[in-house]
Amino acid sequence: MKVTFLGTGTSQGIPIIGSDHPVCLSKDPKDKRLRVSVMVSWDDYCYVIDCGPDFRQQMLTQNVKRIDGILFTHEHADHTAGLDDIRPFYFRQGSLPIYAHKRVLRSLEKRFDYIFVEPHERYPGAPEVDKYEVENNKNIFLGDLEVIPVNVWHHNLQVFGYRFKRFAYLTDVKTIDEEEIEKLKDLDVLVINALRVEPHNSHLNLEEALRLIDEIQPRKAYLTHISHMLGFHKEVESGLPENVFLAYDNLTIEI
Ligand SMILES: [Zn+2]
Repeated sequence: MKVTFLGTGTSQGIPIIGSDHPVCLSKDPKDKRLRVSVMVSWDDYCYVIDCGPDFRQQMLTQNVKRIDGILFTHEHADHTAGLDDIRPFYFRQGSLPIYAHKRVLRSLEKRFDYIFVEPHERYPGAPEVDKYEVENNKNIFLGDLEVIPVNVWHHNLQVFGYRFKRFAYLTDVKTIDEEEIEKLKDLDVLVINALRVEPHNSHLNLEEALRLIDEIQPRKAYLTHISHMLGFHKEVESGLPENVFLAYDNLTIEI
């Protein structure tokens, strides 16, 4: 299985428009972060988790010709705003499967109403999706691979993380209930969000993320959904425990 980090930034991305913050002005490509998303591929399958405003650029950068579907974590714009840009995939492949919590599907239906209307009402250039509702404690099958939804909390908003065999992807976490942590045992790789050093009411900060990694005990962990306030990639990574890494855009790992 191959995981590619398409974006590792928080909601505004790095650099932030108009910002003179030193991290936003950094020349290090690892300090440039598009909105958070990963691509997971195995055999002939290829899925993307979330579809934010940078989706088009991410697909172009990785030269992606085909995807089998999109799994959504939650409805916030930095995770969903790129949905219209599935059009090239739709034109080539037909209707695209999307997987999300019922609440997230409702939200997408409201914001992208023209995608979800009946076929006879649809504008000819609009894309088409097949909706699959994700429920907690109900695994989903992508081809022959069983994926476990993991229920986490983004302040008081429910968010899904996803476990693919010995890899799990969690973003926009602030807290995880004990029984959900059980679903994260025996991981080779855990990806988890770490926003910045200072505390935040709906995101783990660095210290909280490291504490959770310590509790879950994956073989390796990668931090994502990063704000410019966390600091320069090089400096932050050099201070991390030896099995914890700062993810960066276009990093690919094999699991
Ligand atoms: Zn987010």
